[in-house]
Amino acid sequence: MYQKTAKQLHQDFCQGHLKAEAIAQYFLHRIRIFDPQVGAFLSVFSQRVLEKAQLLDKKRAQGKKLGRLAGIPLALKDNIHVKDELTTCGSKFLSNYRAVFDASATKFIEEEDGLILGKVNMDEFAMGSSTEHSALQKTYNPWDLTRVPGGSSGGAAAAVAAGLVPLALGSDTGGSVRQPAAFCGCLGFKPTYGRVSRYGLVAFGSSLDQIGPLARSMEDIALIMEVLGRHDPYDATSLTQPPSLAQDCQLSLKGKRIGIPWHLLEGLNEEALRAFEQALDVYKKLGCELVDIHLDILKASVATYYIIATAEASTNLARFDGIRYGVRAEAKTLDEVYVRSRSEGFGAEVKRRIMLGTYVLSAGYQDAFYKKAACVRAKMIEACEHVFKLCDVIATPVTPTPAFQFGAIQDPLQMYLQDIFTIPANLTKLPALSHPISPVAHLPFGLQLMGPRQQDALVCAFALAYEQATSLPTIAKLFDREA
Ligand code: GLN
Repeated sequence: MYQKTAKQLHQDFCQGHLKAEAIAQYFLHRIRIFDPQVGAFLSVFSQRVLEKAQLLDKKRAQGKKLGRLAGIPLALKDNIHVKDELTTCGSKFLSNYRAVFDASATKFIEEEDGLILGKVNMDEFAMGSSTEHSALQKTYNPWDLTRVPGGSSGGAAAAVAAGLVPLALGSDTGGSVRQPAAFCGCLGFKPTYGRVSRYGLVAFGSSLDQIGPLARSMEDIALIMEVLGRHDPYDATSLTQPPSLAQDCQLSLKGKRIGIPWHLLEGLNEEALRAFEQALDVYKKLGCELVDIHLDILKASVATYYIIATAEASTNLARFDGIRYGVRAEAKTLDEVYVRSRSEGFGAEVKRRIMLGTYVLSAGYQDAFYKKAACVRAKMIEACEHVFKLCDVIATPVTPTPAFQFGAIQDPLQMYLQDIFTIPANLTKLPALSHPISPVAHLPFGLQLMGPRQQDALVCAFALAYEQATSLPTIAKLFDREA
């Protein structure tokens, strides 16, 4: 069962070959046996999911209409609310916080009969690129347990790569779905900003955040996007008429143009460059044409992002004051409650971001930093619009290198550079997808495709054609067996 895609499990259930309860039991057992080595799950909903599965089996027996995700086991990043369950955001601060409502994404999944198995680990408040900033536990890369799974949706990527679930949801503010997907050899998709509702996703950088799926097959990405990608009145930035995906991504690539900003790839090592070029050859064989493009302004991406994202984070995280949510520190006065709760509850990286964000928004520096960054961001959007007159999608590697070892990156600035290729899509609000290509240094490596605004289906069409033309293992060897 673990080798099946979400779609196959769904079909097996609908045709009566597998009971929903059997599917839930099977994956709960896999998690019990394998997760101690992977460290992906922060909470497992054993009871809750078995009850749901039994109800679903009854529904089928009664011949009622089954949802589009019926029988599919899923995991959610621990910043997406499931009512009455913990939402820790990987933080000590929220280690006791239970959600009082369902996120819209959760609601949409449950309406379509998906089976949510539990919540998965992440960097604290989604700040990081290795999941090492989780205050709660370590998550290991299933392909090489001495390495990080990437971040911040590291738990989601590791769970998918170890076959603990076929499908998971992460969130992507600067690359947090795509980078861990690349490190763990699976697919990760960040939709056009506004396509998936952010209602019930704990906010990090509100103008950048998007929920996105991770899976081992492109069909599964399209399937879940059909369910998630709809208008939601609870999110003011939700797109009103999101286009359909599952059908539109079956298109031919003949004559399509892929733009490559070679000048941004100068720092890549030889093996990574070779893997990237090999993947481009596959696209050429599929009928694509490669064009050189220039996007010099993207050199400012990381700098711009760390002004905008931290500014938004500092405001968003002001709500964690020790009064309303999570853990409250021992203190005598109100001011002490604030100071102590925040000092004890937040980890070092989160504090660094709050301080930087407060600084760039302060009266004396707002014009010099925040406003300037907002202008640069507007110019980036313009530059990308111009480039999309010359090509259909833009391709780069997802990351400069494959997964690194635990502790290998100590300097925060060095860690920030992990997202050098992924951040532009968040700043420009464009859809972007990461898919596996030939390994580098025997580790998974990914290619990123970025498309024009709202052209989510086009980006998915490229990845689908690539997947159909190649064959790469998607489950890490160590876990490619029964539990
Ligand atoms: N790694 C980036 C950061 O630390 C992106 C995180 C994300 O996408 N949530 O901010």
